Parts: sequence; structure tokens; C-alpha cells
Amino acid sequence: MNRRDFLKILGLFAISPKKIYAQKNKTKEVIVVGAGIIGTTIAYELSKRGTNVILIDKNKPGSGCSGSSFAWINATYPKQPYSYNLFSQLGINAFHLIEKELSLDIKWNGSLEWALKIEDQSKLIKSINKLKSYPKFSPTEIIGYKKAEQLEPNIKFKNNKSIVFSRSDGAIDPKDAISKMISGIRTNGGSVLYPCKFEKILESNDAFTKIKTSTGILKCQNIIFCNGTDLDNSFGTKFLKAPRPGVIIKTEPTESLVNSIVYGPQIHAHQQRNGQLIIGEQITTPLKESPKNHLRRINKHFKNMVRTSNNLNASEVLIGWRPIPKDDLPIIGRFKNKSIYLAVMHSGISLAAIVGTLVTQEIVDEVDSLLLNDFRPSRFF
Ligand SMILES: Cc1cc2nc3c(=O)[nH]c(=O)nc-3n(C[C@H](O)[C@H](O)[C@H](O)COP(=O)(O)OP(=O)(O)OC[C@H]3O[C@@H](n4cnc5c(N)ncnc54)[C@H](O)[C@@H]3O)c2cc1C
Repeated sequence: MNRRDFLKILGLFAISPKKIYAQKNKTKEVIVVGAGIIGTTIAYELSKRGTNVILIDKNKPGSGCSGSSFAWINATYPKQPYSYNLFSQLGINAFHLIEKELSLDIKWNGSLEWALKIEDQSKLIKSINKLKSYPKFSPTEIIGYKKAEQLEPNIKFKNNKSIVFSRSDGAIDPKDAISKMISGIRTNGGSVLYPCKFEKILESNDAFTKIKTSTGILKCQNIIFCNGTDLDNSFGTKFLKAPRPGVIIKTEPTESLVNSIVYGPQIHAHQQRNGQLIIGEQITTPLKESPKNHLRRINKHFKNMVRTSNNLNASEVLIGWRPIPKDDLPIIGRFKNKSIYLAVMHSGISLAAIVGTLVTQEIVDEVDSLLLNDFRPSRFF
């Protein structure tokens, strides 16, 4: 999607445009709970609009799921239904905008996905055909191993004729992005406080919310909960599934082996510009295993997929816990009253930039986005 289409879609799906003029000059006070990729991006966008924003985290920024993510930015076939897929496509566009602004470290070399078993290959092709039936979809084609080997000379595609190439996908370094946005928030006059744990709401109505934190009482006009897997603990709700763990291995910088995001039968990998490999696994992590065993298992799969004589030299073996809404779709919008807002989702890396843009529009301009209609918390009650 080009920049013009992107901006046109954002405009078309915004309602109550008159309010933009009414609210434009008022300075709002907003607290964002959770400095993962979602909370930090929202706080950064709010700070750009002159909001008095305070971003708090009970630990360090990026220490939750975002710091242990595979960090693939995509709008591929599992992103269904269409409203979610379109939202993810806009997510890619929105990242191109803040990438320039903040010199983010994103490699836009696309992704390659393939399966070994014939039945898995035909499932993959069926999914791509469904994706291509959408009115808009991110550029995707099926290519054979010869073309794939030109893109990825070190990957063993094993004569596979059905490899899915999604050319607009990217991979980001989320910790680097969070740290750059935090500098931006501070430069724009906002505050980032940690460790500072949200404990409870003391008072809340349409005009303001007062909260107790581990470091004192804070009051604001709007509070945005971006606290991932902790969301249900904050409100006693049941909006999320049990979080699903995933192992991520980050290596020391190594020889150049992978250009794009490669999603093979057992593992997926990409390599950052500094040579660090980021590797995740298709299965849900067997938690009883030690980090040494995770590394051993993934090293075996890696050598099965990549032509290299070197073993993986891990700098970190991480277990990330995904915040997954009950119906797998993002939870974004007001909750209980006009002052409290929620933004929690899986695939939060792919969506962070568009979520930052639209939530800021909703909070600062008081302009609702129809793009968020399918994701409102109200669907759960
Ligand atoms: C292994 C793995 C691979 C993944 N791969 C991808 C991928 O390739 N692409 C993709 O788009 N997504 C991927 N995801 C999902 C994605 O990483 C998450 O959706 C995203 O990181 C969620 O970001 P967040 O900011 O909502 O949550 P988090 O990063 O978890 O941030 C929440 C923050 O809230 C803070 N917090 C919690 N409670 C409180 C409190 N009471 N007070 C103050 N602070 C609090 C936490 O400390 C934390 O820093 C993956 C996830 C995992 C685990």
C-alpha cells in the first residue's frame, strides 16, 4: 500500500472530524501503564502531540513480552478476518513513517515461509489464496526453491516448489525501538518512570482517573493500560487466554547467513544488521527444559535449515509470554468510562505503529476510528 492510500484510509475511517478543531488546543494529561512496544509507541505519539504524558513500568521498559519477541512485522495469512488483516497492513505503513523519524533498525527484506509435508504445503497455498481474495493484501507470491535460493543462498529449501514470499515484511529490534521512543518522549517533554507499578484505581469517572502506584498517587484525564499479560489482574476481567510461552534465542554477532525472515518447518530466524541472529520455534516452549537444552534443540533445527559449520553462540535464551486476547483479536478502546482506555494484543510488534497513531487520534482529537470497531473491549461484556 502506498503512502497516499495509507493516509486516505486513515482519514476515511475517522469519525467526528468536527471535534478535531474543538480539542486541538487543549493539553491533556495521560498516564500510560506498561512500557512495552505498545505503551511506549502510544506514549511517543501522544508526546508528539504536546500531551503531558507519563509512561510507567513496574520493571524496565522492554522487559516484558516485547523484549523476548521474534519481532516480525507482517500482515500475512494468519491475520484474519479482513479487518484485522487490513489493520496489520496499515501497521506496516505506519512503521515506515516512524522508522524515518527515529532511525529505527528495521530490515525490510520480506519473509519466506515453507512446509515439508505435502498436506502442509497445500494448506499454505489455500491460506494464500484466501489472503489474495481480500480487497487489499500485502504483496505475496508463491515461488520455487530456485528463486528462493537467490534470495537466501544459505537456506536449504530442499527442492520445495511452494515457498511463500511476502515481500513487504520486516524485522525490527524492539528494544532499540523502545529506547529511541523513550528518548523521544523525554525530548518532547513527557516522563518515563520505572520501576513504578500501577497498584489500583482510587477514583475514576469520565473526566479523570486517580491511581495508586508503588511510588505514589497519580492523577490524569486519561489512563491507557498497555500492561500485556497483566491486564486481567488490573481489572479482575477475563479478556485474555492463558499466556503462551515461546523461546527466543539471540546469538552473538556472526557471519552473514540470513537476509530476510525465514520461516521453516521447525524454526524461524532473521539476522539483524549487527550480525545477531534471532531465532524462534514453531512449537510452544517445553518449559521443563533448561536453557541449555533449548539451545541444543534449536541448534539442531538451525543446522538442518541453514548451511553453516558453526554452532549457535547464544548471547540470550529468553522465554517470552504472549498476551493473547480470548478471540485472538486486539483489545483497543475505552473501558468502564471515557477516562480509561485499554490496548493489549498479540502480534503487538506488527501493530505498534498503527496502534500508536490511532489511539493518539482517539485520545487527543476525540476522533473515533472505524478501523478499531472490531477490536473494542465492549465485545467481551
Ligand atoms: C516468542 C514470541 C514471539 C513473538 N513474535 C512476534 C512477531 O514476530 N511479531 C509480532 O507482531 N508479535 C510477536 N509476538 C507478540 C508480541 O511480542 C507482543 O504482542 C508484544 O510484545 C506485546 O507488547 P506489549 O507492549 O503489549 O506488552 P509487553 O511487552 O509485555 O509490555 C507490557 C509492560 O507492562 C508492564 N506492566 C505490567 N503490569 C504492570 C503494572 N501493574 N504496572 C506497571 N507496569 C506494568 C510490564 O512490565 C511490561 O513491560 C511474539 C511474542 C513472543 C513471546
